[in-house]
Amino acid sequence: MPRSFAADPHSYARPNEIAVSHLSLDLTVDFEARQLAGAATLTLDRRDPDAREVVLDTWRLDVRAVTTPDGTALPYELADHDPVFGQRLAITTDGADRVVVHYATTDDARALQWLEPQQTASGKRFLFTQNQPILGRSWIPCQDSPGVRATYDAEVRVPADLLALMSATNPTARNADGVYRFEMPTPVPAYLVALAVGDLEFRELGERAGVYAEPTVVDAAAWEFADTEKMMEAAERLYGPYRWGRYDLLVLPPSFPYGGMENPRLTFATPTLLAGDRSLVTVVAHELAHSWSGNLVTNSTWNDIWLNEGFTVYFETRIDEELYGADFTAMLLRLGRQELEQWLAIEEPRDTWLELDLSDPDEGPSKIPYEKGSLFLRTIEAAVGRERFDAFLRDYFDRFAFESMDTETFLAHLREALLTPLGITDEDLQVEAWVRGPGVPSNEPHFASDAFDRVDAEVAAFLAGRPAADLDAADWVSQQRWHFVRALPDDLPYDRFDEADAFFGFSGSGNIEIATAWLEKVIDAGYLFERPAVDTAMADFLTRHGRALYIKKVYLKLAATPTGLDRAREIYADARASYHPVAQMAIDKIVG
Ligand SMILES: [Zn+2]
Repeated sequence: MPRSFAADPHSYARPNEIAVSHLSLDLTVDFEARQLAGAATLTLDRRDPDAREVVLDTWRLDVRAVTTPDGTALPYELADHDPVFGQRLAITTDGADRVVVHYATTDDARALQWLEPQQTASGKRFLFTQNQPILGRSWIPCQDSPGVRATYDAEVRVPADLLALMSATNPTARNADGVYRFEMPTPVPAYLVALAVGDLEFRELGERAGVYAEPTVVDAAAWEFADTEKMMEAAERLYGPYRWGRYDLLVLPPSFPYGGMENPRLTFATPTLLAGDRSLVTVVAHELAHSWSGNLVTNSTWNDIWLNEGFTVYFETRIDEELYGADFTAMLLRLGRQELEQWLAIEEPRDTWLELDLSDPDEGPSKIPYEKGSLFLRTIEAAVGRERFDAFLRDYFDRFAFESMDTETFLAHLREALLTPLGITDEDLQVEAWVRGPGVPSNEPHFASDAFDRVDAEVAAFLAGRPAADLDAADWVSQQRWHFVRALPDDLPYDRFDEADAFFGFSGSGNIEIATAWLEKVIDAGYLFERPAVDTAMADFLTRHGRALYIKKVYLKLAATPTGLDRAREIYADARASYHPVAQMAIDKIVG
């Protein structure tokens, strides 16, 4: 436990008075009622001897009683609902060191997604949670601040034909009675508590790694993620021991709103990673890297999210380099820089700083903390040299393990441990401009890629009139095709778009990155509205996928013109019900 907790504008909790140090859940999963019901027993760490109340975050929970473990009722007060932060629950502890909240979730439990049999590969029902950033309070009464860590255990009852998994010790097969017990002995913030219930099977990937998925998906998943154990070894060589025991992956149905969610011991992953050619497994490197940056050293509040995500993108590309080489990684760095440019054009200038000031952390995600944060770390690396920077990072993860970190504390540590001894000043590195300025400062590093230079040459030839079928592209990897799409000009004549699509098959691409880049391009160009088949592919894409950042980009492009906005509304009317509440919140704002 830290000496004191940083103030968190996104939580009602007052952990400096009484902090929750252990959570014990006892829940029944009712698919008919779409409800979790039971009790949460909270172990209290009284940090201020005079404190009488423990304050929790909740979101539309049906709180039925609050008692001591032996059943004595305790007074409590549930405040009015706030549309961003939910309801403050203050419990008078009467000196108790454990309190029990008896409760059930409601229809407005935003962390939960209940899937009907037709929305899953197995044809059976499915439930999964997504707590990050502040949705956990909609199914657990908790201190929902990333700076507050607790160990947890749980007993969860589910229908006997389904398996339950958590971000904890996990079973590898169903048992007869549908009752599962979990232990998480390592303290985690509330945003990393996770539950999934479905028709799931397990495959071993290595000594410490495995994958869960629905029966018809699990073998493809095991093939796609075969490098997982090697990634763990590479990560440990870079930044020290993996501290969470096992590292398993869970492949969710398509409505999962993210690429991956770094729930400890059990990364939740989108099925869009199963490209069939292992071209998108770098997302696994990303989620694995969170076992250090994020889960081990955690952002104090969501305003410091770049400390989670920027570090993780940096770390991810270092794992990629270990496994797949510098040439491959150079392509990823270039694509990341393009991604950053796109988001800089979408977001307000204040939202492009690294240190954020979020009024609502649940508001649509952006890639800026990821890509600008990583680019800042690459800038520091270039200034001090890789060897020194690696030693600094390795020490950082050790020194601050299981603690939280805010931007100012990180910068102070960076100066003291790395920059000042080398005579490097904040001005030399433009630190202020990176952290508290818009856009990208002038000292950013640039990444050369021969593979992309070859693509650029073919793009030039194509624009000069060479037919697509004659391009020297037969051995291109998917990252090169992706770069090709992004490099096409918006005013390309429509018959040339036809040609490119016929040759590369962009409209039907099973690679979500390429498919998204293509749709963005052809919507901007107006081409999509002239080609019914491409429009159908777009509607299919938006109906099939629920990955929030990707569908958000397509909806944003559509919403830029009146014709596109009408079409976006038409598609969204059908697709909305299949999206996770996280994605719904983001898209409602765009087409609303
Ligand atoms: Zn991440």
